Amino acid sequence: MEFIFICPKRNMTFESADFKVTENRGVISDSSGNKTLDAKVELNEPCPFCGEKHVYHASELPCPFEIPRSSSETEKGNQ
Ligand SMILES: [Zn+2]
Repeated sequence: MEFIFICPKRNMTFESADFKVTENRGVISDSSGNKTLDAKVELNEPCPFCGEKHVYHASELPCPFEIPRSSSETEKGNQ
């Protein structure tokens, strides 16, 4: 299963299925009630753009893991 990652240096996206999830603490809610998966996602292969092995927090990924979202709160900043 591939996920979409963003290279923070080049700001470009790529797909990879070669990653691992670490420090998985499950789904948490922040003070405003938004649910995020508290886990880190580490690439097993170097980034195709800059060659680094990036580590992401699960909430940073554009394709979230099994995170239930309420439809009314996902759109923000679009005016
Ligand atoms: Zn990169």
